[in-house]
Amino acid sequence: MDEIIFFLQSRKKGPAPRKQSRGRKNSGALQLRKIFNNMVLGFERPASLFGKSRATSSLFRQGWFSLKRRSLASLLLLAAFSLPVAAQVSFEGSDPSIRPQDDLFRFANGAWINKTSIPNDKSSYGTFTILDEQADRDVRVLLEEAAKHPEKSRDSQLIGNFYASLMDLKTLDRLGTRPLKKELARIDSLGNLEEVVRLMGEFQQIHVSSPIAVVVSADDKNPLINAVIWGQSGLGMPDRDYYLKKGDKAEDLRKAYVDYLTTLSRSSGTSKADARKVMAFETKLAAIQWPKADLRDPLKTYNFSERKNWTKDYGAFPWDRFADGAGMPESSGAIVNEPSYFKGLVKLASDTPMGTWKAYLRYRLLDAYASNLSKDFREAQFRFYEQKLQGVTSMQPRWKTAVGQVGDKVGEAIGVRYVAKRFSSDSKQRVAKLVDNLLAAYREDLESLEWMTPATRKAALEKLGKIRVKVGYPEHWRGYQGLSISRDAAVANELRTNRFLYQRDMREAGKAVDLTRWGMTPQTVNAYYNPVGNEIVFPAAILQPPFFDPKADDAFNYGAIGAVIGHEITHGFDDQGRHYDADGRLRDWWTAADEKAFMGRADRLVTQYGAYEPLPGERVNGRFTLGENIADLGGVTMALKAYQRSLGEKKAPILDGLSGNQRFFLAFARTWRIKKRPAALSRQLVSDPHSPGQYRTNGVVVNVEGFYDAFSLKAGDRLYKAPEERVHIW
Ligand SMILES: [Zn+2]
Repeated sequence: MDEIIFFLQSRKKGPAPRKQSRGRKNSGALQLRKIFNNMVLGFERPASLFGKSRATSSLFRQGWFSLKRRSLASLLLLAAFSLPVAAQVSFEGSDPSIRPQDDLFRFANGAWINKTSIPNDKSSYGTFTILDEQADRDVRVLLEEAAKHPEKSRDSQLIGNFYASLMDLKTLDRLGTRPLKKELARIDSLGNLEEVVRLMGEFQQIHVSSPIAVVVSADDKNPLINAVIWGQSGLGMPDRDYYLKKGDKAEDLRKAYVDYLTTLSRSSGTSKADARKVMAFETKLAAIQWPKADLRDPLKTYNFSERKNWTKDYGAFPWDRFADGAGMPESSGAIVNEPSYFKGLVKLASDTPMGTWKAYLRYRLLDAYASNLSKDFREAQFRFYEQKLQGVTSMQPRWKTAVGQVGDKVGEAIGVRYVAKRFSSDSKQRVAKLVDNLLAAYREDLESLEWMTPATRKAALEKLGKIRVKVGYPEHWRGYQGLSISRDAAVANELRTNRFLYQRDMREAGKAVDLTRWGMTPQTVNAYYNPVGNEIVFPAAILQPPFFDPKADDAFNYGAIGAVIGHEITHGFDDQGRHYDADGRLRDWWTAADEKAFMGRADRLVTQYGAYEPLPGERVNGRFTLGENIADLGGVTMALKAYQRSLGEKKAPILDGLSGNQRFFLAFARTWRIKKRPAALSRQLVSDPHSPGQYRTNGVVVNVEGFYDAFSLKAGDRLYKAPEERVHIW
């Protein structure tokens, strides 16, 4: 199961997995700079155990007191007669012993953090995981219904059978690796590098990672046409750093990885000695790969190479064999993300003995399908990727795995039903209206931005004006015509579906991009900006409390979903997005002076976040997280502006003793509520472009003037920054 790559491949093709939670491959490096960087959050897992807790009057009281210190009598009066919905949502879980001026994140979430323990099958728990869990439960009902009555429709058959096959652990245990017999035999029969490389290409079609990942996606320089993109890939651990970092902790993880590979050997009846050989090979691969921060550069990663030039550009290698195996059209060239890596790979490939290649491909294959092989494989995979890498203590119930996988593979067939049950056209309209208001605030901001010259401003305004907005669910469902799923063969279903999805994409190489496609399913609790489409996308599942509540007051909705909307819009103008023009074309539309001004401001944000050290000796990578941090800052700034615009001449009402702006910030901080295991946090710091939740709150507001006003910050407050030190970009 190669979740990230599938996710990324899905960017342009509608159904995508609803979470890339485990994201255990680094193959995601390819196109990482696109959607993955542009989501509102990265590695999140669904949650269990806790439902959404209701506000208690005591918490409400404490929260209220911490701000206003009114008399109990007047408080109770308020509570009894005028407690609005929004206030319940905002105050629940807040910690009145913390001053918002010192730590807004803890103020809004401290009581919840203190009383909550992370469920055993989770690496983290918070707002997103709770909603994810809710969506999982909703989807489970749909799938079980479909599994009971597959005869009802073609889609019922598809998702019902898939789900049933994944739940049938007895069959999985009985079959062991037999469903992969053909693929394993192919590996055994390999005799030379040409054959190895061809199989690497073929394995792309069944989502088995190898040193080159293939994606079909809009061409950055010709955004209406799909192109084939090649990127570095093929590591079993989440990032090259895991192979190259020094220190006991890193050594310990590497040892655990070798143990994992050894278990795969034992369970599949091959030599244990292979594990060390493959570890050495992957380490060499890691050494020539680009660091993740470099992958965020859309200019450096755009290197189109025609087929006839592959050998000239990158060295002698059976390129055609690879392209054939990967099913690329004969006329197709490739956009190569990391040229120096491809040159290095050519050399490494010819230096690698056949025995190592075979062992390597065998591990990649077994690992890709381990979650649907027999128990020993499933448990080994859990022990390494979940327990060791993320600190999770027990395996999630099988139904969650099955829900996740059906969603990953044929999620759109679920989405149709999910939307019918859980999303109203009224919500769609209200959110669309909020988006309009955010865009209007943005327009005002761009028109008056002090550091931008007229030429760049004009292009920026044009880009803003052309942003395509998608809310809730796709206009057109793509469907899965031609795919058949049987009830009793999970791995066969997975193989067939992977191939189906891959080939469907590959057929679009060189053809027009379908602008109605979605890169996430409606049941995904997330949102994204797609730079090549210049579009912002908000799936139905994020359009619910605590992000959006049609009954809540405006301050709440602007602070929560408004900041998410602003975040996605800002991605169009972050350090990556700014390289794309109004039509999504990778093109420089900035004057040198504007670029310099932008970079100067961005660099200060790099320094600010780079100083955060959530674990001893482990800091946030300010460069790698820059795009997200810019988006977070722009998102809140614009949402606040939009909220204030919406008030017009009116003054915001005081509710529960809180001003409108205070409620805005409380609602914002509430959305980033999260608790994470140290191992998972450590992993996030290495491989997730999003900063940890506390910095997505506190790291943002320290730069927002409205926050200083809302809570009357003074020098000496922990979140106080001198005016000249505050970073303003958008
Ligand atoms: Zn983002």
